[in-house]
Amino acid sequence: MTSGAAAAPAHNSRYVFDFSEGGMEMKDLLGGKGANLAEMTRMGLPVPPGFTISTEACRYYLQAGDPPPDLVNQVRSALTRLEVATGRGLGSATNPLLISVRSGAKFSMPGMMETVLDIGLNDDTVGAVAALAGDDHFAWDSYRRLIQMFSKTVLGLDSELFEVRLEQAVAAAGISSDVELPVPSLQQLVSDYRGIVREQTGEDFPQDPHRQLMMAILAVFESWNTERARLYRRQERIPHDLGTAVNVQMMVFGNLGHGSGTGVAFTRDPASGAKGVYGDYLPDAQGEDVVAGIRNTLPLAALRDLDADNYEKLSDIMAQLEEHYRDLCDIEFTIEQGHLWMLQTRVGKRTAAAAFRIAEQLVQEGRIDLDEALRRVTGAQLGQLMFPQFDLSGGVDLLTTGMGASPGAAAGHVVFDSATAVAAEADGRDVILVRRETNPDDLAGMVAAVGVLTSRGGKTSHAAVVARGMGKTAVCGAEELEIDYEARSLTLPDGRVIAEDDVVSIDGTSGRVYAGALPVEPSAVVKYFDAGLDAANDRADEPTRELVRAVDTIMRHADRVRRLTVRANADTPDDAARARRMGAGGIGLCRTEHMFLGERKEIVQRLILAANDQEREDALAELLPLQRKDFIRILERMDGLPVTIRLLDPPLHEFLPDLTDLSVRVALAEQGGTDAESELALLAAVRRHHEQNPMLGLRGVRLGLVLPGLFALQVRAIAEAACFRQRLGGDPRAEIMIPLVGSVQELELIIDEASEVLKSVAERNHCALEFPIGTMIELPRAALTAAQIAEAAEFFSFGTNDLTQTTWGFSRDDVEANFFSAYLERGVFGVSPFESIDVAGVGRLVQMACDEGRAVRPDLHLGVCGEHGGDPESVHFFHDAGLDYVSCSPFRVPVARLEAARAVLTTDAGSDTR
Ligand code: ADP
Ligand code: MG
Ligand code: MG
Repeated sequence: MTSGAAAAPAHNSRYVFDFSEGGMEMKDLLGGKGANLAEMTRMGLPVPPGFTISTEACRYYLQAGDPPPDLVNQVRSALTRLEVATGRGLGSATNPLLISVRSGAKFSMPGMMETVLDIGLNDDTVGAVAALAGDDHFAWDSYRRLIQMFSKTVLGLDSELFEVRLEQAVAAAGISSDVELPVPSLQQLVSDYRGIVREQTGEDFPQDPHRQLMMAILAVFESWNTERARLYRRQERIPHDLGTAVNVQMMVFGNLGHGSGTGVAFTRDPASGAKGVYGDYLPDAQGEDVVAGIRNTLPLAALRDLDADNYEKLSDIMAQLEEHYRDLCDIEFTIEQGHLWMLQTRVGKRTAAAAFRIAEQLVQEGRIDLDEALRRVTGAQLGQLMFPQFDLSGGVDLLTTGMGASPGAAAGHVVFDSATAVAAEADGRDVILVRRETNPDDLAGMVAAVGVLTSRGGKTSHAAVVARGMGKTAVCGAEELEIDYEARSLTLPDGRVIAEDDVVSIDGTSGRVYAGALPVEPSAVVKYFDAGLDAANDRADEPTRELVRAVDTIMRHADRVRRLTVRANADTPDDAARARRMGAGGIGLCRTEHMFLGERKEIVQRLILAANDQEREDALAELLPLQRKDFIRILERMDGLPVTIRLLDPPLHEFLPDLTDLSVRVALAEQGGTDAESELALLAAVRRHHEQNPMLGLRGVRLGLVLPGLFALQVRAIAEAACFRQRLGGDPRAEIMIPLVGSVQELELIIDEASEVLKSVAERNHCALEFPIGTMIELPRAALTAAQIAEAAEFFSFGTNDLTQTTWGFSRDDVEANFFSAYLERGVFGVSPFESIDVAGVGRLVQMACDEGRAVRPDLHLGVCGEHGGDPESVHFFHDAGLDYVSCSPFRVPVARLEAARAVLTTDAGSDTR
């Protein structure tokens, strides 16, 4: 996202634009709301007239501390034009104009900034407003609302002061709600409110409507920089220097009796994506009342019976808007005494399923092409559609709703502390860890639990960040829950109690918490990827079929469009097969670590501890056939596609017993007089290999150089497996990857060793083995010396997990649990650098290594195999950086395929992967 901020505004700039002068292409200058109001005006739709003060004026004000010198004049002229157009006057005691002052930035920031309604009311105009409307109650109620809203948003007074007075008035009148307040009470209230303003600010509530207007405009400018607005922008990665526009508009009133009302509507269902308009209507009410939820709204269809004419008009307008924007639109409208007014429109937000269905519908309807459909859906949305889901068909018991903080569906027994969670997991029971909030002490419990539920904190809370990092389902901030750690229970607002061990189900996407264990099923979209269209459609309802069809259409197009190949990280034959079904074009990272653990660990220990060449060669000889079999099976599953096999890369200590455990064992044995000789040798070896920082210790290529024969063994196993596959008529395409290289010398030594092995195996078996040998780039030094390394390496694969750790100098395990939530909350990162590549730092190393490597070796093959390979924003970066492929976990492959295509279609500025 690029900043729309211009350089310092030129003198004599125009800052004010009538709605009739702008259009939807002017969002940078007019903000989203203003640009769309102008667009509707241009379309000839009934928009209450008004004008927009540009974001440029806001930026000027925020920089200079004063509005641009000419702003007051420009506003005055625009106001005069508005007065002429409406035939009313601001402050006129006979025919008063009332206006709203509405904020509106380029990107929607719901609820973050301010709007002031009914500007123009004062002691002189309130009577005329009452007379014109034929409604005293309406006029006085509007006046008291203006003072209340103005005091809060413009004067910065505590709204509590006014609420308390309002409640007193309601109580004194002996009624139940403020809508019933009689006119004299409202008049008294206005007078009381003005008293509060005087008392709090030392000045009267401004009676001059022009002053009200200018003060409100500046207050909207300032609302751009409130703490919560800044925080919101940091989290949503909206630049801070855009500023907001201000819209000044004639007020229209939906609360003037039964011929009036207000509503919101969508041109299609934003939840399911079903065709047909969808909305709510509230007769005799203003827009704020709909949002406040004071009264129950009617479905939009009810308007047809109340006011057929306007229903028809509105339907026409919605059709026009869809035609015009070629997308789902949402609208706000008001009917004032039979006259329909459009107050807002924008391309509407929608759920993931709706995004896919609507994009495909629009293609079918011939409104957009497939490229545009691709731009309209995101990898994040596709990812959401792939999480397992609860099967809700059997009926549910909804307990409460919090925030969906980490997607997925999990059911388990409630536990209230980490230790209980760990113990339960050891017993093989699924548990949901329930905490008010979590901290690093809860980590073990979070690992043990199938899901996490908290009553406090939002999407950047510790629980949310850590759960997302672990891919664990979490619902956070379920504030209705009263958690009692002592009693080991939680209480719902209705008094119901859930005790420890009771079973609940949590949905990390919707934030819903249900009683009991709901059945979990794989999503239809996953079935589609894993087993094809027919399997996904089997027993699916029509909306689901339509969704799957949409995903299919869009994915086929994505595969035609993308330049990047998408490979998968897969270590086992099963993973390799699944990756292939998910559309992977090979394996970008096949780790060999786990192949050495389990029952083979003992052989590896012998290898490490070998006292002489013979012992070492014996151990290697034992490992060889086992490794060969591993590779044969994986090469078979990926026949014809590249398989990048990484030579062994865990810290050595993972193969040896724990130092403390072993010391105790030896001590006990010696005490008991038993023979501890072999244990003693082991202890000595373990001591020798003990490391303070295993992450920075003897691993990767370092291990290969220190432990003679180890890498040669692996290369031999790969070579022999390939020969075996060739003899069977297969097409094995192994690539050998050396981990943790920091200097070209390390790489050259291993390549010499490997080439010799390949040559001898090829000769002996009469087969051709032309495997590329390359390296991971996962240390800053490797990136910095990429030109040298490229002399030896035939490919680079960026290991962005380690590269992120070593560039920042922190280890993921330590930081994610300990301080990332604080960093996210305080805005050091907008998102964890382990989730999305840190473009400015780590990304720069990647780009440098790409460019300098390719300068030396133009056909250098480039890929990435960190988890970033499946992250939408990172995929765009890797596309732009010129990589050949990304590699990610099999389940992320479809997401990466989609985003790789979107990266081709979206320019840098337009790429919005959220
Ligand atoms: P938000 O950005 O929070 O949606 P808006 O600027 O849309 O804020 O204003 C909030 C509500 O105020 C609108 O939904 C509408 O009901 C009411 N409103 C704003 N301007 C007018 C107007 N000119 N006439 C009547 N109501 C208005
Ligand atoms: Mg609005
Ligand atoms: Mg690594």
